[in-house]
Amino acid sequence: MARFEKRAMRFCRVLAGSGHMMVSMDRRHFLKRMGAAGVALQPALRATGAVSPNEAFSPGIFLNQTGYLPGAAKKATVRLAEAASKDFLVRRVADRTVVLRGKLGAAIRDEASGDEVGVADFSALRLLGEYQLEVGGLASDRFPVAAEVYANGLRLTMRAFCGQRCGCAVDLGDGYKHPACHADGAFHPSSGQSGAQAGKLPNRGGWHDAGDYGRYIVNSGLSTATLLWAWELYPAALGRLALAIPESGGKLPDYLAEVRWNLEWMLSLQDADGGVWHKQTSERFCAFVMPQDDQLTSYVIGTGGPPFKSTGATADLAAVMAVAARCYDPYDHAFAQRCLAASRKAWDWTVAHPEVQFENPPGISTGGYGDRDLGDEIAWASAELWRSTGEARYETAFLAHAPTGDKLVAISAPGWGGVLPMAYWTYAMAEGAMAEGKGNPAVKAAIRNATQAAAAALIERSCRNGYGNTLAPREYNWGSNSVAANQSLLLLIANRFHPDAAAREAALDNLHYLLGRNCLGVSWVTQLGVRPFQHPHHRPSAADGIEAPWPGLLSGGPNAGGGDAVWAKLPKLPPMRMWVDDERAYSMNEIAINWNAPLVFLLAAANSQTTS
Ligand SMILES: [Zn+2]
Repeated sequence: MARFEKRAMRFCRVLAGSGHMMVSMDRRHFLKRMGAAGVALQPALRATGAVSPNEAFSPGIFLNQTGYLPGAAKKATVRLAEAASKDFLVRRVADRTVVLRGKLGAAIRDEASGDEVGVADFSALRLLGEYQLEVGGLASDRFPVAAEVYANGLRLTMRAFCGQRCGCAVDLGDGYKHPACHADGAFHPSSGQSGAQAGKLPNRGGWHDAGDYGRYIVNSGLSTATLLWAWELYPAALGRLALAIPESGGKLPDYLAEVRWNLEWMLSLQDADGGVWHKQTSERFCAFVMPQDDQLTSYVIGTGGPPFKSTGATADLAAVMAVAARCYDPYDHAFAQRCLAASRKAWDWTVAHPEVQFENPPGISTGGYGDRDLGDEIAWASAELWRSTGEARYETAFLAHAPTGDKLVAISAPGWGGVLPMAYWTYAMAEGAMAEGKGNPAVKAAIRNATQAAAAALIERSCRNGYGNTLAPREYNWGSNSVAANQSLLLLIANRFHPDAAAREAALDNLHYLLGRNCLGVSWVTQLGVRPFQHPHHRPSAADGIEAPWPGLLSGGPNAGGGDAVWAKLPKLPPMRMWVDDERAYSMNEIAINWNAPLVFLLAAANSQTTS
């Protein structure tokens, strides 16, 4: 209780609202997180000279704290300054038997961490069991080798979405619960609704976006589509996933039932003319309170002038509803048809209004998710609709908005503001539409080849980096952990096009990085692994009176690009070290649905490789 009181006192001093904080970021992927749930730093709060309390427990050996699949590659990173020898061994915990011996690979000067490291490759270990790696006087965390080793991670990270539900009571067990929140909404004047329409409107669900309680169509679009793509690619792993949600046992698999909770809210933000309002949030971020205690009005917010809806939100809704139409049809044909109709209507609206950007109207300081280039969103919506319907007008629009041929844009990991890779990939994966003799085989082949080239570059990076991830040093910016997860998504799509064990391994290497094979020895998913981080920038975790945070949430991760007031106090260190486990540090330790979604995708893939 004493520790809780200390936490409570700390939050008494936390001030909500960061609408006036200016953050200079050069990647638009992160612009929209600007000010997302910011807090003002109080000078009396704890010193931030130490990078992370986790580092004090660092064993000098860094590996995936949740373990490895029997048939997959297994590598650990050893900091050479702490290891007295380059010989390593693997010992079985049960009987202390040495089951494998080897030597570290050549020394690597790892630019991202500043460490000189060696890699212990113990991939030859395939027998099920619990083990420890020992190198020159160091012993690693204990880790399992098992076929179902990532099942818990998949369940936790997907159940985290249940924990983000808005408009209903939530109960994840172990005290992680809250009564229904944000029961009523209202149209903000910027939405263009007036008179009787501007009164209260019922809450239609959705997921709280991040550490704050807002809901944003643009971010929901990519997050939800990522989850539905995972469903399409890994149906076995996700079909058997039991989430223990109120809808369990109904006609939908649990996974699709959870995703529908957010789809229903997205649909509720579509106006009669097909356009979609940009977001539903309060005027400013609330204090660090539980969701049911947030008394600020949840407004449907528009652009402030005709046509009031935004192109980005409308195109993203069109894209994700087209995906949903495919996914839900076998289980609920009527709902799938509703999604498809909404998608078509939204797409028609974007044709009529292709360039309506969004900026926060006066008096609104929540996340903007603004985007100046909307061609990729329209291309994505068009490609998804073409894939779902095979209708030529959608393909024509895709080809008009997505550069192809000599102008094909190099493939990179997608983000909420950059969805062109999604457009390309769904076009290239449109098997049904292509089977009908439609589509351009040359464009499809070019997309596949460009994806393979991008994957090859990531694989090369993974081999060169001391900690085995695919991030370049310049990519340690706001939300870098989600970039790693989305790079794994890219690798897995490439593997879909051209099956390649190296791509699958590199994708898993990012999972290992996120779950402990990093220079801080931390697992960046709450309640997962030996040393998960403890202090996400996440209001329920801070306000619920429980010491441990809500489970299954991915931290934004190291950020060398600038951010919050806690960040400003950090010493300048190599980029992977620019992280601190502090709930005030929203530029390093917030959580977000668009960060958890690619991790779920990656874990779904990992759970599909249990026999490899
Ligand atoms: Zn809510």
